[in-house]
Amino acid sequence: MADERELAENETPKSDRIHACPSCKKPMRRIEGRMGPFWGCSGFPGCKTTLNEVDGKPSTAINPDYRCPLCTRKLVRADSTHGEEKERGKGDYWFCSGYNKGCKVKLDDLDGRPKPAYRCKRCGKLLTRREGKNGSFWGCSSYPTCTASYNDIEGRPDL
Ligand SMILES: [Zn+2]
Ligand SMILES: [Zn+2]
Ligand SMILES: [Zn+2]
Repeated sequence: MADERELAENETPKSDRIHACPSCKKPMRRIEGRMGPFWGCSGFPGCKTTLNEVDGKPSTAINPDYRCPLCTRKLVRADSTHGEEKERGKGDYWFCSGYNKGCKVKLDDLDGRPKPAYRCKRCGKLLTRREGKNGSFWGCSSYPTCTASYNDIEGRPDL
């Protein structure tokens, strides 16, 4: 029947909408990565485009977690592609893409994401967690110029 066929053709497959790769226009596919889902180009390894997942779709928007806490530029993961370090996940870190512009922010890698960073309320520089006699606390990275310090509450500074 004509009606039935029409229906079938108009039916859009649920989550199978094709998202084209921004560089080569091949379809992107969703990948369950160790650090959460992301989208990779089906033209891999010819095309190495990957996108973050935002609302279930590939997106070029930068996840706020991956922005530099100081200048809001994009953070770049230092890709330690050389053998053993990579396997152990050691030596991975994130640096600010504004590095050449003078932003020296560098964050440790925590399960594939940049470790959260906190800013000093007094001077706006980043805080670093330190171990003191009475337990952990957060000190300003511009110490001794700035002597602000904050209590540690379950791994976060009490700001
Ligand atoms: Zn591609
Ligand atoms: Zn920065
Ligand atoms: Zn400070």
